[in-house]
Amino acid sequence: MKSNKQRRLEIKNKRLKKAIKLLEVKTVHKILPQDSILANHEELKHNHTYHGFPEYYINISYTCRDCGLEEIWTARQQKWWYEVAKGNLYSCAVRCRGCRNKIYDTKIQQKQHMQEMAMIKPHPNEAFFKKLLNTEKLEQTT
Ligand SMILES: [Zn+2]
Repeated sequence: MKSNKQRRLEIKNKRLKKAIKLLEVKTVHKILPQDSILANHEELKHNHTYHGFPEYYINISYTCRDCGLEEIWTARQQKWWYEVAKGNLYSCAVRCRGCRNKIYDTKIQQKQHMQEMAMIKPHPNEAFFKKLLNTEKLEQTT
């Protein structure tokens, strides 16, 4: 027969063991995967999220939306996108660098084209054509 004191001690020890086990589980989760980079939650405050901020970034592979190429979005790139460029936490990479560069180039070309068009002098008869177009519109509406 055990005394009450002994029993209480046993229960106490059991509880302690349980608590230590739980703590160990928590610390195991804290061990970071390879090639991961810790997230800085101070820099993520521009986001409003229900799920909380990520603890770390890890390399993610994705297929390009335009050409179907398999690419890797590195942890370092993610950290830059979310924390420096202040990207939305729910946004992620969808296009490879080649396709992104193509879009960038066409945008520059469009800008140049618009600037060139703005430099061109208006046609001497432009006022006449505008008038003509306006009267056409009026006829359509009536
Ligand atoms: Zn691509």
